[in-house]
Amino acid sequence: MGSKILIIGACGQIGSELTFKLRSIYGNDNVIASDISYNNPDIVNTGLFEIVDAQDYASIKVCVEKYNIDTVYLMAAILSATGEKYPMKAWDLNMTSLFHVLNLARAKFIKKVFWPSSIAVFGPTTPTKYTPQYTVMEPSTVYGITKQVGERWCEYYHNKYGVDVRSLRYPGIISWKTLPGGGTTDYAVEIYHEAIKNKFYECFLKEDTELPMMFMDDAIKATVDIMSAKPEHIKIRSSYNLAAISFTPKEVVASIKNHMPEFEVEYNPDYRQEIANSWPKSINDSYARQDWKWKHTFTLEDITKEMLLQLSKKYKGEFK
Ligand code: NAD
Repeated sequence: MGSKILIIGACGQIGSELTFKLRSIYGNDNVIASDISYNNPDIVNTGLFEIVDAQDYASIKVCVEKYNIDTVYLMAAILSATGEKYPMKAWDLNMTSLFHVLNLARAKFIKKVFWPSSIAVFGPTTPTKYTPQYTVMEPSTVYGITKQVGERWCEYYHNKYGVDVRSLRYPGIISWKTLPGGGTTDYAVEIYHEAIKNKFYECFLKEDTELPMMFMDDAIKATVDIMSAKPEHIKIRSSYNLAAISFTPKEVVASIKNHMPEFEVEYNPDYRQEIANSWPKSINDSYARQDWKWKHTFTLEDITKEMLLQLSKKYKGEFK
């Protein structure tokens, strides 16, 4: 029998595109999208959808039993910038939801779990260039603390209870379909929207703030690849470093200007600058490349071309 998949947090930036991809691979009848609300009609109206509260064990279990789910992708979370505004909310959602899903796997209601970690697990004492898989990890944001603790629990559940949990430390993810949900790398999405709409962007990070980034298609490919790899190839059960490219706001601006010379930017760093300062500039993901043959595709130039093309169509009303 094939996989029956539940995606929790399917209306978000990554969950929505993951849902489309998994539906295309496994078929609409085998992929159940879920979220706390009906906030993304593109997901809600195009396949199976359920309201599931990731903080409520019973709510997840009812859905798992209803559809005979064997694999859960847990995408619900409060991200870095929002987490600094609501620290206890971030802690509660990010940790409770992970425990619920790990415990469902431990009790053998489900067989396999995907849970995303983040480059936010690293902190100001981490080496910032080509950050290794194993290094100093002292995150300074609530979000980063939840991800680091989550990684420890994933590894613990694997070692102690044999839970097949797989995880990636996503960098900043750039996409055009669904807006990002309150992270520090959101500028790299907003900047393209504002370029198309207003030819002007006020950037909340300094021009030379270098951060690891990735186009959505690469992030989804990595997620599908790690989940379809043979268990013996997954040698890290905390979370894999994952990388594609690194760039600064100044470099994105230059790549947009290649297509749109009149585009202007103003830099007004806010509280998110401090978060960005605590994160790596680039990531060494050699374990992912070695263990399950990870390879990225999109360069900054590819991303800029695709973002400008798709967003200009979107704002001309060619979609919806
Ligand atoms: P997002 O904020 O865009 O989406 C999160 C979704 O979770 C939303 O649709 C929200 O409605 C839903 N949600 C919130 N509370 C819920 C609850 N109690 N029950 C069910 N659903 C609930 O987030 P995203 O960017 O898609 O991130 C997905 C995962 O990837 C998160 O774990 C995040 O930490 C991780 N991540 C994202 C990035 C990025 O750049 N987007 C980078 C690193 C890691």
